[in-house]
Amino acid sequence: MKKTLLSIATLCLVQLGLAGCDATPSSEPSEQVAGYFADNGTGNPLAVVQHPAGEYHDGITYVSYQGPFEDPYVAAYNHEAKTWLGPFRAGTSELGRREGRTKFDNHGKPTLLIDDEGYIHIFYGGHGGDRHHGENTLGNVHHGANKHSISKRPFDITEWDEVDNISVFGTYNQALKMDNGDIYLFYRHGAHRSNWVYQRSTDNGRTFEAPVSFLKHKRRTDLKAEDSWYAWVGHGEKDEIIVTFDYHLCWDWDANERGHTTERHDAHYMVFNTVTGDWTNVQGESLNIPLTREEAEVKTLAMSTGPDWTFNGSTYLDTQGFPHITTNVGVDLGLKTGGPKLLRHLRWDGEQWLGGNSVNGLAAGNSRGDFILSGESNVEVILADDESGEVAQWLSNNNGETFTKGNVLLTTQNGTFAITSIIKNAHPDALVIAAIKDKASPHRQIYLLGNEGPIGRPLSEATLEKDTSVFY
Ligand code: ZN
Repeated sequence: MKKTLLSIATLCLVQLGLAGCDATPSSEPSEQVAGYFADNGTGNPLAVVQHPAGEYHDGITYVSYQGPFEDPYVAAYNHEAKTWLGPFRAGTSELGRREGRTKFDNHGKPTLLIDDEGYIHIFYGGHGGDRHHGENTLGNVHHGANKHSISKRPFDITEWDEVDNISVFGTYNQALKMDNGDIYLFYRHGAHRSNWVYQRSTDNGRTFEAPVSFLKHKRRTDLKAEDSWYAWVGHGEKDEIIVTFDYHLCWDWDANERGHTTERHDAHYMVFNTVTGDWTNVQGESLNIPLTREEAEVKTLAMSTGPDWTFNGSTYLDTQGFPHITTNVGVDLGLKTGGPKLLRHLRWDGEQWLGGNSVNGLAAGNSRGDFILSGESNVEVILADDESGEVAQWLSNNNGETFTKGNVLLTTQNGTFAITSIIKNAHPDALVIAAIKDKASPHRQIYLLGNEGPIGRPLSEATLEKDTSVFY
């Protein structure tokens, strides 16, 4: 452990440089520098699905993560001054404050978006809503309340207002701002047996229109189970939004000996035109919304994984306008969660889906991450690999046909990783937020990683107050 920390500290001393140290009054060149910017991350504090978790704007990278009591925390890094601000608590989550809790919920991680007036929005705290919220007309309920906080002033993370203008039943928030300033908030409207929806705001997030369903949960007539979904939503061309999703076979608790599991299969893709309201598959055929399993199997399937289980990834368009998608795939080992899953990459070439191989070339293991497309055929994956204990670049110059390992950005000998999607409009020094999950502690050190590794911070600034209540 000491060896790992030392190597990170050395790396950051180099990256911060003397100018950075001089710019911070409390920082002597000899002061110890942490690789992380905060050490009060809590539980499983980051994920690919709640996104974006951060945004770069005008020299500053704004980042968010799950901190003490599962509340959302926001920090900001000034790239020119090489200084950090925060973190500040941006709201109060109901998930971490449930009486009698015995473990973290971990579903209400924050999503961050900056509107056209510069106000910063944080969406957080939901895991399907609670019984006391009343009936969920679009599905079932579980815990928490989906909430929304807005910064009191533009580009200022120090003070926040909680606003009551989105559905409490949401979970897995994903926020997109279109070129005209409209904000789309996508999420699952409840627990597993719920539709996926979006809400639109045309006034910088001050009000939102009613939820619109686009993926349908539905009882199966052939099995003791329901159709359910997991989705990741991103920017397409112009006014379009692109969606990759996988299918969750949501077994009843008494359906079989294993009961309910995290069984998920396949990779799907579709497109939403926000001007016409039309939804189409990759070939441009119209879809009936909310989409059912029956129609999805015929029209939106990008990759069948057969008996293997999945955990969906992300999607982006290449310079030709063709989608690339990732998904995590693993053999079902008979566990409640199937087993370890490896990140795979595939792309549409205008006629068919190609690829589907694991990014790191392995046949087994557990990895996840997100990717950037550039040039005619470059793919850069930031891959967190639990087996090797490394977060590293994996680079392809042939559209994902083969990948080679680039820089190692973060290592651990004692834990596994949590990692976000690529930060919106990311600076190359600050691409993703990551944490090391050490089984011995609920507290997480939070790293901002770029192509050269973590952006460090004086250890005294990165050492923060934590939630000391016991909940393991
Ligand atoms: Zn389920």
